Amino acid sequence: MAALTSVSGFPRIGQNRELKKIIEAYWKGNATLDEVHATAKELRAKHWKLQAAAGVDLIPSNDFSYFDQLLDTAILLNVIPERYQRLGFTEPEETLFAMSRGYQGDKGDVTALPMKKWFTTNYHYIVPEIEPSTEIKLNGTKPFDEYLEAKELGIETKPVLIGPYTFLKLARDDDAQELTFDKGLVNAVAAVYAQVLAKFNELGAKWIQIDEPFLVLDKQPGDVELFKSLYTKILPARDGKIKVLLNTYFGHIADVYETVNLLGFDGIGLDLNEGEDENLAAVSKHGVAGNTTIFAGVVNGRNIWRNDYAVSLGLVDALKQVTPNVAVSTASSLLHVPFSTEGETALDPAVLKHFAFAVEKLGELKEIATLADADDEARKADKALAANQELFDGTRVAADPKVAERIAALTDADYTRQPARAERQKLQREALGLPLLPTTTIGSFPQTREVRAERAKFRKGEITKEAYDEFIKGQIDACIKHQEEIGLDVLVHGEFERNDMVEYFGQNLNGFLFTKNAWVQSYGTRCVKPPIVWGDVSRAKPITVAWSAYAQSRTNHVMKGMLTGPVTILNWSWPREDITHEQQTQQLALAIRDEVLDLEAAGIKVIQIDEAALREKLPLRKTDWHSKYLDWAVPAFRLVHSGVKPTTQIHTHMCYSEFNDIIRDIDAMDADVISFEASRGDLVVLDAIHEANFETEAGPGVYDIHSPRIPSEQEIEERIGEILKKMDVEKVWINPDCGLKTRGNAETWPSLEHLVAAAKAVRAQL
Ligand code: GLN
Ligand code: ZN
Repeated sequence: MAALTSVSGFPRIGQNRELKKIIEAYWKGNATLDEVHATAKELRAKHWKLQAAAGVDLIPSNDFSYFDQLLDTAILLNVIPERYQRLGFTEPEETLFAMSRGYQGDKGDVTALPMKKWFTTNYHYIVPEIEPSTEIKLNGTKPFDEYLEAKELGIETKPVLIGPYTFLKLARDDDAQELTFDKGLVNAVAAVYAQVLAKFNELGAKWIQIDEPFLVLDKQPGDVELFKSLYTKILPARDGKIKVLLNTYFGHIADVYETVNLLGFDGIGLDLNEGEDENLAAVSKHGVAGNTTIFAGVVNGRNIWRNDYAVSLGLVDALKQVTPNVAVSTASSLLHVPFSTEGETALDPAVLKHFAFAVEKLGELKEIATLADADDEARKADKALAANQELFDGTRVAADPKVAERIAALTDADYTRQPARAERQKLQREALGLPLLPTTTIGSFPQTREVRAERAKFRKGEITKEAYDEFIKGQIDACIKHQEEIGLDVLVHGEFERNDMVEYFGQNLNGFLFTKNAWVQSYGTRCVKPPIVWGDVSRAKPITVAWSAYAQSRTNHVMKGMLTGPVTILNWSWPREDITHEQQTQQLALAIRDEVLDLEAAGIKVIQIDEAALREKLPLRKTDWHSKYLDWAVPAFRLVHSGVKPTTQIHTHMCYSEFNDIIRDIDAMDADVISFEASRGDLVVLDAIHEANFETEAGPGVYDIHSPRIPSEQEIEERIGEILKKMDVEKVWINPDCGLKTRGNAETWPSLEHLVAAAKAVRAQL
């Protein structure tokens, strides 16, 4: 007998991104909706069969989505704002795509619903919008259809839904504000879930999984009552038949475990990869209700390394001290890992055997479940366990003693830039000779079709390195000339040589590996292919120095060097599990520090170190913000730049303006200048800057680069006026809110002309 196995969710984009390709073809008018349906159906069948063949007991259905499963949940609850309904589409997918991507055509003109990061992953969900006129009711049959579709294939599945609590906490009203949970709303939402349960009872489903990841966050007043009130209304619909698995992930639920346990769910899913100590302590303290099975989430859904069976069995054994009813599960949906290691032929088998993508994780789940119910004797004799132990006993990769030595030799002085920032600011003002309200950009300029085509040719070996470099130089020259013409103060080279702000650096660092096909869904049809941190990281050779030096040689203006910071590189890679994130970030910081010092030596006076992902990876629980993250992430950034001369100006950039709650930590990064997104009249962060006496000079983005719209000079002038109400003019920079690489030249240059003109006009009035 083996323990019950359960998969929380499976990647849906397809082994070769078939879903992405067919949907994008449909958007372009090159495929029909029927073809999209057919591909989707094939993929679902393939994925269910793979899981059935691996012997998974509880196989998910309704984890499929054309865009996003929270959007699907909204649609199931009939939470479809009127402006999308008015488009009057007959096909439900067209309404779905209008909600997720916007629509401009003969039926109307609507923008998309906002998109946000799904907890601490790089997956984005669509934010549901509930209007006063929204009538919450069961809409559509997607979960039932997919359950029956699997059943027809002879596969019994466990339908998966995002739960009502998480839905209500993530949804917003039509003013983008958090909802107030009045009785009518709560009852209406609960009623739909009860109806869904009743329907699945009718169809004969054995288990349903309801995901409530929002339970792993800190609770606001009223949250626990809301949760209880929802489930006391929903659970009676089980009618003694269907079993409900309340699933949580991305952290622990210690603060509500007692409540959850008392509600009498048939299963409680706990993440034993993130927050395992707190979860185990809660289970030991409060016990497990007699009819409840604990689903031990031991197979990591967020990283790609093989599971250490000894660790997983230790966790399962600990739970078994409390209850005999333990199932073995993935810690979260496998949506966040790539499909299979099968196609990674470029990686040495000795390397590849250390990785488990979604398909390989199915095998791990089964082996752990078998071992979970085996006694010591049987475990000792087990071949799978022995083979697994061998992987973890041996040295995977030789440590680089030089890296360890460097880290061991670090002292507080290496994390402290001298002199103090106020002093530096004076020296830099003299050295750089910039006007007040200096203008600049975030780094990249449009990556036109031509640029991408040349890079593709170079990659395929169709043109030589010399020819490619000449081409890039030409792009840089033209970009510099144009920036000079419109009168920007601090120039950039344009980043034409890089396709990506992480992979480009990884390729020039020791310790990184790259995959061919390890794509992970980021949002909608967009996928990312993060590099893997395999060993100790150091810089193999200068990365950007030649390009920046070339660019500086072509102008008398100040040329800004452009780097990606250590926290962002790690957060957008697959991190190692044998050493901490802190250690890996430190190694990366030293590698980028080498690059900073080389740029300085090459005559670059302003260096920007982007930390786009810093805010994004803030832990979910506030109590962990410092101890588990900021206490090392912020010093790592300081380590990168502490070695430069007082006159060298260090910039950083963040894509988010939502950092009013960590404003002092941002200041403690000790950069000289920060640029960030603040284009949508977001004044909260400006207030925070004001109140915190923020020392870093700052460029709150004066226009939104995510839209092709050209802002007028007038509009930017007004924006600058608003900024000057809150900030000291000596500390203000004028820039767009992010890099321009996804824009076209047609809108970029007029926008920047307006930006420069606006800055000049405001300067003249000072
Ligand atoms: N320097 C990068 C660029 O301009 C920054 C990108 C980002 O913040 N994501 O593209
Ligand atoms: Zn950005």
